[in-house]
Parts: sequence; structure tokens; C-alpha cells
Amino acid sequence: MLKIGEIGWIEKDRPACGPRDAIVKPLALAPCTSDVHTVWEGAIGERHNMILGHEALGIVDEVGSEVRDFKPGDRVIVPAITPDWDSEAALRGFPSQTGGPLGGWKFSNFKDGVFAEFFHVNLADSNLAHLPEGMSLEAGVMLPDMLSTGFMGAENAKIEFGATVAVLGIGPVGLCGIAGARLGGAGRIFAVGTRPAAIKVAKEYGATDIVSYKEGNTVEQILNATGGAGVDAVIVAGGGAEVMMDAINVAKPGSVISNINYFGQGIGDEDLIPLPRVGWGFGIADKTLMTGLCPGGRVRMERLAEVVTHGRMDPSPMATHVFKGFDRLEEALLLMKEKPRDLIKPVVLVEQ
Ligand code: NAD
Ligand code: ZN
Repeated sequence: MLKIGEIGWIEKDRPACGPRDAIVKPLALAPCTSDVHTVWEGAIGERHNMILGHEALGIVDEVGSEVRDFKPGDRVIVPAITPDWDSEAALRGFPSQTGGPLGGWKFSNFKDGVFAEFFHVNLADSNLAHLPEGMSLEAGVMLPDMLSTGFMGAENAKIEFGATVAVLGIGPVGLCGIAGARLGGAGRIFAVGTRPAAIKVAKEYGATDIVSYKEGNTVEQILNATGGAGVDAVIVAGGGAEVMMDAINVAKPGSVISNINYFGQGIGDEDLIPLPRVGWGFGIADKTLMTGLCPGGRVRMERLAEVVTHGRMDPSPMATHVFKGFDRLEEALLLMKEKPRDLIKPVVLVEQ
């Protein structure tokens, strides 16, 4: 990111490795819709000459003198979120928010990201995980952010066995929300979206009903299908601020609305996100709004890897566009911006 609205290639020095850190070379990279918010919507404010990217698998090139469990040559999963595990927020149980809101998100936010020939990982023993033998790069690169965020959407939604869940937005994040809801025991799952490629994967991941928000009102369609009852949990994974109206209106009293969408557009505090007064039960109908930034760190990545290794979910169908070579990154990022209808997620494989 050269500045808001402009991307390009730049030369930078190799980052320095602290005693507990690692320097990693990429094996697989994926652009995120959040990178699009960062560059083209200025979501985190102006950044000059910042390296983008926070979704990577890599190969360790160097470790600091105090790193115990990783050595040069190890193939690793690099979480999008790399918290300071000894910080006050982490000790309170919110490691993604270390050092202030969204502070655990360092790559392509507070420091250079992973779209580089070498990148720096803080606290290597706590923030890297070994890439399991046999896991494909296309599948593995979905763990750092897509699975971690989508599954958190389902975890935060407090889904009980047999619960009815609506997932608003079925890009890669919402698709992982669907997979997470199924693993968490949901009975009926409404997938709200229109892209044909995503609908196909939504069904594979457990969606029982497909709702198009373009061909009718989302709330009416789901209320009709549930005899007017609405749903036990909503996972919000797409749309602008107005999507919260649908989310709250379609939720039953006693439900959880779990937002994982990043409302990146807007102009600071002047923009508001609406809540429907009546639909929200006048603010007192036990409709709980949960929010969260992707969980990071080693244990999270190891557990997500277990889900994939043991066949509970296969992330690879989300990799609809696979590029070979570091120099294809720009193309992949632009694809994430343009979102053609056959796209779910572009992936770039880097030979090392
Ligand atoms: P995406 O753009 O591929 O998918 C979102 C989809 O929602 C799009 O297809 C869009 O057309 C659709 N949509 C728009 N309005 C809608 C509506 N009213 N109802 C239903 N769907 C609607 O994006 P993605 O890559 O899946 O990411 C989703 C969001 O999650 C982005 O905002 C991204 O920045 C954010 N994100 C958050 C975290 C986190 O830590 N919480 C992590 C990664 C990404
Ligand atoms: Zn992301």
C-alpha cells in the first residue's frame, strides 16, 4: 500500500529478528477483504509504503536466541493476529485486542504485513504453529484468518444443538461461519448470498436454505420460512452498516447476533450503525450483540489444523483462483477488490 487508493511494489530492508521472534519466507499467501478495506476505503487511516497482507503459510528463515520450538526450514502456519501474550488485554482474555482496539492485528495494520519476501513474526513460540504433514497449501492458508474468524463467528453465536442459524454474507468468512455453525451443532442454517460459487460451497459446508438478499427482503424470507419465529443465532459476515437491521430483525428474543463483519467504510464517529428500535425489542428483548476480531496465536492454529486434518471440514474448495509466483500477488489482490462472481478466495503459491 503506497497510500490510500494506491498499491505498488517497493523495496524494503529485511526486518530484524528479536530474541523471541522469527523471520519467515512465504509459501502461500492470500489477500483478505480487510486488505481491500485498508487500501481502497482507508479503513484504518492513511498508511504510507506499508506492506499489505496477513494470511500466510511460510518457511522459517531465522529465529531469535530464545525461540525453543521452531528452527530455520520449518514449515509454519502464521496467524493473521499475533498478540502480545503477556499484555493486560490478553491476561483479561482478549488477546486480539492487545494494546488497544484491534491491537493484536499487527500485520498490515501496525507493522509491515506478509506480502513480502521476508516478514517478521513476534513471539514465535506463541504465534507460529507447525504446518501438518500432508496439509495442502491451498487448505492451510485458509486457517490464519478465514477459519479462525468464521469459526469465532459461530463460537460467539452460542449455537445449541438443533438451533436455527442465519449467516448474512457468504464470502469466505461467512462460508467458514456456516461450517462452524454446522460443527457447533446447528440444525437449520440459512445462507444469505448470491454468488453461485459461494452458494455451492455453502451447501457443502452445511447450509440448508439459500436466501438471496437481492431478490427480496432477507428478513421476510427467513421469517416466512420459520413460521414467523426468526432464528436463534445470526452470524453477520458481509454487507454495509444497514445489514445490522436485517440481523437484529431476523433474530428471536433470547438470540445472539454475532458480528464478524468489518465495517471499514465511513468517516469516523460521524457514521452510525443502525439498530431497529422495535426489532431490537425496544432494547430489552434479550437480543445479545457479540463482536470479535479473529483469534490468533499458536493453539488456535493447532486446533484449526486438527479440524482439517481429521476431515471435519475441507477449506480447499474456497481457493477458487490459485496463482503461482510471488509476482502474481497484485493480480490476486485486485481480484479480491473486484470480486467476480466465480471468486471465493484467491491464493498465491510461492516457490521456496
Ligand atoms: P466478501 O466480500 O467476499 O463476502 C461478503 C459478501 O456479502 C459479499 O458477497 C457481498 O456481496 C455480500 N453482501 C452484501 N450485502 C449483503 C447483505 N445485505 N446481506 C447478505 N450479504 C450481503 O467478504 P469476506 O472476505 O467473506 O469478508 C467478510 C467481512 O469480514 C469483510 O468485511 C472482512 O473485512 C471481514 N473480516 C473480518 C475479520 C474479523 O477478524 N472479524 C477477519 C477477516 C475478515
Ligand atoms: Zn483478514
